[in-house]
Amino acid sequence: AAKGAGGNQYQFFSETLNMKAQERAAIERALREALEKEQISVHYQPQIQLKTGRVVAMEALARWYDENLGAVAPARFIPVAEQTGLIRELGAWVLKTACAQCKQWHLNGHPIAISVNVSIKQVMQEDFSEMVVETLLETGLEPRFLDLELTESMLMDNAAESVALLRMFKSLGVKISIDDFGTGYSSLSYMKNFSVDRIKIDQSFVRDITIREDAAGIVKAIVAIGHSMGVTVIAEGVESKEEEAKLRACHCDEVQGYLYARPMPAAEAEAYLRATDRSIS
Ligand code: C2E
Ligand code: MG
Ligand code: MG
Ligand code: MG
Repeated sequence: AAKGAGGNQYQFFSETLNMKAQERAAIERALREALEKEQISVHYQPQIQLKTGRVVAMEALARWYDENLGAVAPARFIPVAEQTGLIRELGAWVLKTACAQCKQWHLNGHPIAISVNVSIKQVMQEDFSEMVVETLLETGLEPRFLDLELTESMLMDNAAESVALLRMFKSLGVKISIDDFGTGYSSLSYMKNFSVDRIKIDQSFVRDITIREDAAGIVKAIVAIGHSMGVTVIAEGVESKEEEAKLRACHCDEVQGYLYARPMPAAEAEAYLRATDRSIS
């Protein structure tokens, strides 16, 4: 019986693998077409300063709706884009769209920053920095309003190159955030070498903060060390007032999450900006 079960299990696994390969191929084909037809869009989620309630930035998040596949989540298509090299085109498209949108918001009276996620495959491209500079020139966005979000694990896996890259971004005047902070292997001391501007505390910590006292202690410590190095600290995935209160008690600088707003199309995001401006001033 055990043998039979093992055989079934094997068959099950190979079918799953096969399906995965097929799904990947389908996503690759459809993604290539979506990029050609400019069917990828960008949604924006506000990042809010806790002390003032002001929106200080919007995070650009890629969105893809395919006729056959339906809404495809970034968690599904970003890895495929990375594996197939399509990330180059996708990344350039998102960056350009987001920078142009941010510039438009400036012209409309909202001088906020724009956070753009970038993957390791992108930044390791020889001409990545040229692409960034060109995009800034083309859209007219000042470099200090662009914030690139890089994940902690990707910096740690490429520590030597990463230090050089981040120095280069610094020299361009572009800001750097470490995304998903706390989920990788980094030691906080690395932050100094990387000269990052901001760390984004991963939502897994935010979820724990109201449940476990030690989690709150960890967040408090991260914020304190971050501040001692001149780094801004933002918490992502904030969903409740209770979480917000805890983050405030930890002296966290900024928050982002469904409690404030979901990622939204540009027009809705601008309406949100107008509404918060009105409620504050
Ligand atoms: P991320 O950069 O860490 O983005 C945060 C994710 O959490 C987003 O998922 C966002 O929609 C979601 N989120 C925001 N607030 C909340 C909340 O309160 N609760 C919960 N449960 N989730 C919240 P999304 O849009 O599905 O993106 C997933 C990941 O895909 C991103 O994680 C980022 O790593 C990647 N990604 C998205 N767009 C791009 C892109 O244009 N380029 C690259 N390279 N990666 C991207
Ligand atoms: Mg991000
Ligand atoms: Mg994150
Ligand atoms: Mg993430």
